[in-house]
Amino acid sequence: MDEVYDTSATFADLGLSDPVLRGIREMGFEHPTHIQAVMVPPALDGSDILGQSKTGTGKTVAFGIPIIERVKTDSPFASLCLVPTRELAIQVTHELRNIGRFTDLHVVPIYGGQRMKVQNEKLKRGPHIIVGTPGRVMDMHRRGRLPYEHIQLAVLDEVDRMLDIGFRDDIRQILSTLQQDHQTIFVSATISREIETLARHYLNNPVKIDVSEGKSLTVSQVHQRHFTVQPWDKNRLLLHLLKNEEPALTLVFCRTKQTVDALTGYLKRKGISAHAMHGDMYQNKRNRVMSRMRKGELSVVVASDLAARGLDVDDISHVINYDLPEDPEVYVHRIGRTARVGKDGIAWSFVTPEQGALLTAIEKLTNVEILASEYSDFKPGEPPAAVLNQQKEEARRQDEIRTTHSRVRTSLPTTDTSDSSKFPGGQVPVALPRKRMGGRIRTKRS
Ligand code: ADP
Repeated sequence: MDEVYDTSATFADLGLSDPVLRGIREMGFEHPTHIQAVMVPPALDGSDILGQSKTGTGKTVAFGIPIIERVKTDSPFASLCLVPTRELAIQVTHELRNIGRFTDLHVVPIYGGQRMKVQNEKLKRGPHIIVGTPGRVMDMHRRGRLPYEHIQLAVLDEVDRMLDIGFRDDIRQILSTLQQDHQTIFVSATISREIETLARHYLNNPVKIDVSEGKSLTVSQVHQRHFTVQPWDKNRLLLHLLKNEEPALTLVFCRTKQTVDALTGYLKRKGISAHAMHGDMYQNKRNRVMSRMRKGELSVVVASDLAARGLDVDDISHVINYDLPEDPEVYVHRIGRTARVGKDGIAWSFVTPEQGALLTAIEKLTNVEILASEYSDFKPGEPPAAVLNQQKEEARRQDEIRTTHSRVRTSLPTTDTSDSSKFPGGQVPVALPRKRMGGRIRTKRS
């Protein structure tokens, strides 16, 4: 069976209207993907949906078709689609406009970083479908520009991100304001049990769809490997890989914005044309990087997790986790930027010696073994002076602890004078505890 497409079905089988079928044909799609084949029919019937499917399997079209089919041209503000990033708002709007190209429906993106005045003008015209980030949507609602009372269909893309702690309150505020009868669709590539429980608060008897086949969370076309590397060797190893492998378009993920900037600077100094992408950059600059990346003009983009979710850029050949993400689910989304709709891709992760448990947690979640890769021609460097000093200091401390312990042990009375009946079955103390427990207990003096 094809992993992504349902080759036994056509879009016409899904009961779509002529204008939507024309839109889909114009997009060049032949067969629906599995999530589309399974999700579209119940969504067209008006059911609430909780849908899970791997990255790059066409979830946007899976909820986009029901939006375009169910919203009527005489109903402004009829659908609200919430997404976590501005880039995703622009991308999803683009996809919905393509599906609805032969309808008279009007779709607008609403996100922070774009001038209020521009967005006010767009909302004044009474669009049918709004695709937005939660903060700006709430802002526009408060200003009376974006009414909620006509919403018939609400969608949360990347639902696990939308219901995690960062966005949870905003989503609660928006969704609990919808008093009228409405349909709700939630999708993501990862939905933990906890998120599902939260999600169900907003869903009415939902149809649950999971086409991840219950096996692995990542598509088999993505070849995953890890490199064990010391933190001080990461820059050189990355440079080595980029120079020796000459990957096409590479997306390098770092944990912080500072690392993104520092690493981009390092690569540039070494002659690699690298571009940064993170949330502290001006929106114009972010948009420029995105559009150049889409046009295939860039070869290395160093990004924060801003770029981990949903971005659909053709031909990202390599994803490199320069830093492993702390949350294993983020790994799934990051590497999902490559190997989209049936293509091949490579995902490499740098793992420092202390990060074994994190790698195991990722393997457990994805249900994939991420094998080690070695570079015989890469020579690890000496630890920098600061690390050597730290190691020396740690060794000295351990030594000191050992000497103190042995001194305490030899100074203890050899005959046990304590009353063991007071400590039945337990360890019988032979001396009073040190007064301040090495500083761990607060006393009046501290
Ligand atoms: P996901 O949200 O599952 O990560 P997207 O919705 O971003 O995936 O879709 C990935 C890519 O696949 C997009 O470029 C989209 O246009 C394309 N796509 C979607 N459905 C089909 C289809 N049925 N046939 C071919 N390409 C498709």
